[in-house]
Amino acid sequence: MSNIARRKFLQISAVAAAGVIAFPGREAQAGDLPHVSVDDPLAAGLKYTHDASTVDPATRTQPAAEQNCANCQLVQGNDGDAWRPCQLFPGKAVAAKGWCSAWVPKA
Ligand code: SF4
Repeated sequence: MSNIARRKFLQISAVAAAGVIAFPGREAQAGDLPHVSVDDPLAAGLKYTHDASTVDPATRTQPAAEQNCANCQLVQGNDGDAWRPCQLFPGKAVAAKGWCSAWVPKA
Protein backbone atom coordinates (compact mmCIF):
# COMPACT_ATOMS: atom_id res chain seq x y z
CA MET A 1 0.00 0.00 0.00
CA SER A 2 1.46 3.34 -0.95
CA ASN A 3 1.85 6.11 1.60
CA ILE A 4 -0.95 8.09 -0.05
CA ALA A 5 -3.30 5.10 -0.07
CA ARG A 6 -2.41 4.30 3.55
CA ARG A 7 -3.01 7.92 4.58
CA LYS A 8 -6.40 7.93 2.82
CA PHE A 9 -7.32 4.61 4.46
CA LEU A 10 -6.44 6.00 7.89
CA GLN A 11 -8.48 9.15 7.26
CA ILE A 12 -11.55 7.15 6.24
CA SER A 13 -11.11 4.83 9.23
CA ALA A 14 -10.86 7.79 11.61
CA VAL A 15 -14.05 9.34 10.22
CA ALA A 16 -15.89 6.01 10.49
CA ALA A 17 -14.68 5.50 14.06
CA ALA A 18 -15.76 9.02 15.01
CA GLY A 19 -19.25 8.25 13.76
CA VAL A 20 -19.47 5.17 15.95
CA ILE A 21 -18.27 7.13 18.97
CA ALA A 22 -20.58 10.08 18.37
CA PHE A 23 -23.71 7.98 17.79
CA PRO A 24 -23.27 4.68 19.63
CA GLY A 25 -26.27 2.45 19.16
CA ARG A 26 -28.30 5.22 17.58
CA GLU A 27 -31.34 3.77 15.86
CA ALA A 28 -33.58 5.53 13.39
CA GLN A 29 -36.20 7.53 15.24
CA ALA A 30 -39.75 7.78 13.90
CA GLY A 31 -39.17 11.49 13.38
CA ASP A 32 -36.35 10.63 10.99
CA LEU A 33 -38.48 8.31 8.89
CA PRO A 34 -40.55 9.30 5.86
CA HIS A 35 -44.27 8.80 6.32
CA VAL A 36 -45.74 5.82 4.54
CA SER A 37 -47.84 6.92 1.59
CA VAL A 38 -51.39 5.65 1.21
CA ASP A 39 -50.40 5.17 -2.45
CA ASP A 40 -47.60 2.77 -1.50
CA PRO A 41 -48.59 -0.58 -3.09
CA LEU A 42 -48.41 -2.48 0.21
CA ALA A 43 -50.26 0.29 2.06
CA ALA A 44 -52.97 0.39 -0.59
CA GLY A 45 -53.27 -3.40 -0.49
CA LEU A 46 -53.76 -3.25 3.26
CA LYS A 47 -56.19 -0.31 2.97
CA TYR A 48 -53.87 1.79 5.12
CA THR A 49 -55.18 5.20 6.09
CA HIS A 50 -53.64 7.98 8.18
CA ASP A 51 -56.98 8.34 10.03
CA ALA A 52 -58.66 5.24 11.45
CA SER A 53 -61.87 7.18 12.07
CA THR A 54 -62.49 7.18 8.31
CA VAL A 55 -62.81 3.37 8.28
CA ASP A 56 -66.27 1.88 8.70
CA PRO A 57 -65.90 -0.56 11.65
CA ALA A 58 -68.25 -2.97 9.86
CA THR A 59 -65.65 -3.46 7.13
CA ARG A 60 -62.93 -4.51 9.55
CA THR A 61 -61.89 -8.13 9.69
CA GLN A 62 -61.54 -8.01 13.46
CA PRO A 63 -64.41 -6.74 15.60
CA ALA A 64 -62.46 -4.79 18.23
CA ALA A 65 -64.10 -1.44 18.85
CA GLU A 66 -61.17 0.95 18.69
CA GLN A 67 -58.42 0.08 16.26
CA ASN A 68 -55.52 2.29 15.33
CA CYS A 69 -51.81 1.98 14.81
CA ALA A 70 -51.07 3.12 18.36
CA ASN A 71 -52.81 0.07 19.82
CA CYS A 72 -51.62 -2.43 17.19
CA GLN A 73 -49.21 -5.22 18.09
CA LEU A 74 -47.05 -4.39 15.05
CA VAL A 75 -46.34 -0.76 15.87
CA GLN A 76 -42.96 0.17 17.28
CA GLY A 77 -41.43 3.26 18.80
CA ASN A 78 -42.72 5.31 21.67
CA ASP A 79 -46.24 5.66 23.01
CA GLY A 80 -47.48 9.18 22.43
CA ASP A 81 -45.52 9.79 19.22
CA ALA A 82 -47.73 10.94 16.35
CA TRP A 83 -45.71 8.89 13.82
CA ARG A 84 -44.20 5.54 14.64
CA PRO A 85 -42.35 2.73 12.88
CA CYS A 86 -44.38 -0.34 11.92
CA GLN A 87 -43.04 -3.83 11.36
CA LEU A 88 -44.89 -4.02 8.03
CA PHE A 89 -43.32 -0.86 6.63
CA PRO A 90 -39.58 -0.97 7.33
CA GLY A 91 -37.94 2.42 7.04
CA LYS A 92 -41.25 4.29 7.11
CA ALA A 93 -43.48 5.70 9.82
CA VAL A 94 -47.22 5.24 10.16
CA ALA A 95 -49.63 7.63 11.83
CA ALA A 96 -50.45 6.67 15.43
CA LYS A 97 -54.09 7.35 14.63
CA GLY A 98 -53.84 5.42 11.35
CA TRP A 99 -55.08 1.93 10.58
CA CYS A 100 -54.67 -0.93 8.13
CA SER A 101 -56.37 -4.28 7.63
CA ALA A 102 -53.40 -6.10 9.20
CA TRP A 103 -54.22 -4.56 12.59
CA VAL A 104 -53.52 -6.99 15.45
CA PRO A 105 -54.53 -6.31 19.05
CA LYS A 106 -51.70 -5.88 21.49
CA ALA A 107 -51.19 -8.99 23.60
FE1 SF4 B 1 -50.88 0.39 11.73
FE2 SF4 B 1 -50.74 -2.10 12.70
FE3 SF4 B 1 -51.32 -1.70 10.12
FE4 SF4 B 1 -48.86 -1.21 11.03
S1 SF4 B 1 -49.89 -3.20 10.95
S2 SF4 B 1 -50.06 0.10 9.66
S3 SF4 B 1 -49.30 -0.42 13.08
S4 SF4 B 1 -52.57 -1.08 11.91
